[in-house]
Amino acid sequence: MAEQLQRVFVPSAVEEGGNALSLGCFSSEQTAWGVLRSFLKKSDRMLLVSASVVVWDIDVIGEHGLTVLASLECKACPVCSRQTFWVDLENFSALCYGEACAAWVEESTHEPGVIDCGWPAMRYLKQTKSIEEAFKELFAIGDQIKAAGITGTGNIEASKAMLDEFEDPT
Ligand SMILES: [Zn+2]
Repeated sequence: MAEQLQRVFVPSAVEEGGNALSLGCFSSEQTAWGVLRSFLKKSDRMLLVSASVVVWDIDVIGEHGLTVLASLECKACPVCSRQTFWVDLENFSALCYGEACAAWVEESTHEPGVIDCGWPAMRYLKQTKSIEEAFKELFAIGDQIKAAGITGTGNIEASKAMLDEFEDPT
């Protein structure tokens, strides 16, 4: 006999205007995150404002059965400008789900108080003292990319040369 299911993990997303999109309910947190992440990759084709993963305990009446595991907010990506930058407000971290971008900001796991940020497309990685500073760094990359007329990561070589110049203006 199958093991009795005690809890279900429910990922969902909310569209602009408040319409909630249900993505199913799952027996493991890992699966719920997997479903949500692959859904968020398409978020530049939709108008999404937020997303969450919650867990419901089975057979519990009312809100006591509900625990919010994560709530994410969608913002414009500082680097690629697409509406694909998802910020986890509780455990501060942010990641762009846009194709070929993946710009990110996260508190350092090694040094508390240090905020790391990066853009894997160019192996760019920087440590900053605050979230604001980290966003400033990413916005600066985004501005340079736009100024150079590079869209997406269509021309990595050009963007790499541009960033070298940006970091070392001598
Ligand atoms: Zn991006």
